[in-house]
Amino acid sequence: MIHKKEFYIDGRWISPSMAHDYEVINPSTEEVCAIISLGGRDDTNLAVAAAREAFSLWSHSTPAERVELAESILAKYLERADEMAEAISLEMGAPIDMAKAQQVAAGAGHIKSFIRTAKNFEFVSELGAHAPGDRIIREAVGVCGLITPWNWPMNQVTLKVMPALLAGCTMVLKPSEVAPLSSLLFAEILHEAGVPAGVFNLVNGDGAGVGTQLSGHPEVDLISFTGSTRAGREILRTAAETLKRVHLELGGKGANLIFADADEKAVKRGVLHCFNNTGQSCNAPTRMFVERGIYEQAVETAREVAEATQTAPANEAGRHIGPVVSKVQFDKIQTLIEKGIDEGARLVAGGPGRPYNANRGYFVRPTVFADVSNDMTIAREEIFGPVLSIIPFDDEQQAVALANDTPYGLTNYVQSQSDERRQRLARELRSGMVEMNGQPRGAGAPFGGMKASGNGREGGIWGLEEFLEVKSVSGWS
Ligand code: NAD
Repeated sequence: MIHKKEFYIDGRWISPSMAHDYEVINPSTEEVCAIISLGGRDDTNLAVAAAREAFSLWSHSTPAERVELAESILAKYLERADEMAEAISLEMGAPIDMAKAQQVAAGAGHIKSFIRTAKNFEFVSELGAHAPGDRIIREAVGVCGLITPWNWPMNQVTLKVMPALLAGCTMVLKPSEVAPLSSLLFAEILHEAGVPAGVFNLVNGDGAGVGTQLSGHPEVDLISFTGSTRAGREILRTAAETLKRVHLELGGKGANLIFADADEKAVKRGVLHCFNNTGQSCNAPTRMFVERGIYEQAVETAREVAEATQTAPANEAGRHIGPVVSKVQFDKIQTLIEKGIDEGARLVAGGPGRPYNANRGYFVRPTVFADVSNDMTIAREEIFGPVLSIIPFDDEQQAVALANDTPYGLTNYVQSQSDERRQRLARELRSGMVEMNGQPRGAGAPFGGMKASGNGREGGIWGLEEFLEVKSVSGWS
């Protein structure tokens, strides 16, 4: 049993002001795998005070000093990559090979990408030849509260901590209480890399406690949040009183538009993408819209892919999918699968209950529904499990209208061999990202959404700018 009850504040591991134990559950076994503490107001205040104290020094560090520190963080992160994969796999159920190849690698990729961005970033720039004495200075926003979810722990944490650090901000991280072990290890990595005391602090806690305390704290200048749309709304409300900046990365209900001229792997790729990370990705393509002429063939392919998708415990090597993260998520997914059946969708693969090979653990059957209509609950709500909805369409105009008919706007996908069609659709789809023909977006591309998917952009220069104020100066020279 792992005991990690301390918080990382002002460069030291310290006990919570009041004991409040919290059990971390291994989703593959439903057994307690670690005990952490949930913090309270005194812990939050202590961490915020340490960050405030460190801000005057850190915000005056040079960009080159900050890049050097980021490089040593990267080296330590890579040294401890195996430990990190084990922590993520244990706490949220990502199969160990996937945890290494995707979860941990995503964190390393972001650290590298932000180093590159910061090296080339102009923290002081000229306005233009018409105003030679003007300068635009980008300076650190201040003390940041970083609140992260459990589904891609190091992806989210590095997308916030690294740009905050490279911008010259100080911070308090509150990782998800459901998956805190990877962040505790990340705090050790930052300590070993030589992050100055108070620049980075970590307090574990839940949303009602530390999360709300950070959002409402008068000494916190910015909240960067990734998580549910529900929590995003609460954070905005709590933050309003202090007029702090709030960046939100929320849920999604991605459409994958598959046209009759799509490449032959398009359907299989779409199903696998939906099931990746056991369906627990905000950008998962969970609504597959298929052109009528290839619809029945696509449904058949989706059935084959779902039936070939194995589920197994997270600590086993292999290409299976793991359990979903918690009983709460398991129950929610079961209810939504039942709803899909009740509302008249055609169940093609999977369905309610656990897979045949599991009687313990939060395993969900890889599930495909066909003949879904866009107003069914399974097409409207984020399920966050391996559940795909397939919907037919007749023409491009209808496909766009259906894809955009959702409160969310994070990532949409297009599969077609026609450049003209893809370029038209890239403009028509109301989402922060459009990925086409299975081509991943490049390192440093902005990640974020429109509508109920949030307002922030993480990664690259956009991700760095989220942590910077713009100061306009005249009479510089
Ligand atoms: P969640 O909103 O319940 O929790 C996320 C984090 O917010 C946790 O640390 C939690 O303790 C905290 N929190 C909860 N309520 C809060 C409140 N009122 N005030 C302050 N903090 C609060 O979400 P989750 O279940 O951990 O994560 C899944 C959700 O995250 C999904 O909806 C998913 O789509 C979304 N997500 C979005 C992105 C993105 O970039 N758009 C990425 C990953 C996950």
